[in-house]
Amino acid sequence: MSDGDDREETDRGEGAEEIDYDAVVVGGGPAGCSAAVFAAREGLDVAVFDRGRSSIARCAHLGNYLGFPGGIDVETFYDLAHEHVERAGAELVDDLVESAEKRDGGEAETRFRVTPQEGEPVTARRVVAATRYGDEYLRGLDDDDAMFETHDHGGEVHEHFDREYADPDGATPVDGLYVATPSEADRQVVTAAGRGARVARRVVTDARIDDGWWPAAAEGVDWVRREAERDEEWADRERWVEWFDDRHADAPVDPDGERFARVREAAIDEALSAYVDADEVEARTAEGRRALAGHIDPDAAVDAHGADALLDAMDDEDIAAYAEGTR
Ligand SMILES: Cc1cc2nc3c(=O)[nH]c(=O)nc-3n(C[C@H](O)[C@H](O)[C@H](O)COP(=O)(O)OP(=O)(O)OC[C@H]3O[C@@H](n4cnc5c(N)ncnc54)[C@H](O)[C@@H]3O)c2cc1C
Repeated sequence: MSDGDDREETDRGEGAEEIDYDAVVVGGGPAGCSAAVFAAREGLDVAVFDRGRSSIARCAHLGNYLGFPGGIDVETFYDLAHEHVERAGAELVDDLVESAEKRDGGEAETRFRVTPQEGEPVTARRVVAATRYGDEYLRGLDDDDAMFETHDHGGEVHEHFDREYADPDGATPVDGLYVATPSEADRQVVTAAGRGARVARRVVTDARIDDGWWPAAAEGVDWVRREAERDEEWADRERWVEWFDDRHADAPVDPDGERFARVREAAIDEALSAYVDADEVEARTAEGRRALAGHIDPDAAVDAHGADALLDAMDDEDIAAYAEGTR
């Protein structure tokens, strides 16, 4: 895993360089965006390629996605999802992936070379397929017989990606390849998003295992907790060390060794970073509402709140800026 700005570049052998990601997500619909948000929030360096045949673009209006009581138009939903991806730290690339080829590194890690239609190829340790339609780029990563199935529709034979090719958490027989969609979850937007999250959790777990974590330590959840709920005893880092040592007494790693200590430090840092104080909750609440408001057209805001309420919400600074023409 790497921090946002220290992406490695691998030599392509012709003097040119390829950008290397921890994970490339192919498809920026509900499944792919959700996968990218979950993976990027855990510090993975993620790119999402998005262009081409889309299921959600065909939906006339989204009325059954939890949290939008009046439904939401697909364009706004898509913009929100893409902004979420970027705020989480992933990169969005407006390009169509044409192929993903596996480079067997022998003793070294497997890497994929992902080639888009217009831009330069990139490499990645992991690829998450998240295209409900348009699965041609997956050909060659495994036997066609394993990945695709054929159906006879009134004498015409059609080939489809096998929705049961991947495990429920997206893992496949190909090391580093995960499938969010096509899957049994891709028939509704909310289930596709849930599947993307689940697959990303698996990606994060596997990335940690590559980094030397053992499975019981590597699995986790993305939770944000209130500082006020933390008992005083847990303010002391030593208490967390005790907790970790108890919990992982049977770890398949020398408890006095460097590896155990390194994973313990990282796991404790992560556990502690989940806690936010009341000021931080307030700041995040305000930022979340601002981000949402940015997608609401002003007429809708006036209809919902009334012009007086909106004027009341403007402070002197806002009014002065408005009068000066700077707002
Ligand atoms: C007519 C219709 C109406 C629907 N109405 C509803 C509804 O009201 N409510 C509901 O819950 N569900 C509805 N659905 C289902 C919903 O659209 C899907 O469940 C959901 O969009 C699946 O999400 P996904 O991320 O798997 O795929 P998609 O939404 O298809 O997203 C995949 C993304 O990948 C991109 N892509 C494709 N190929 C490539 C490639 N090679 N490289 C890069 N990017 C690529 C596409 O551009 C797209 O943005 C409807 C579907 C249709 C067809």
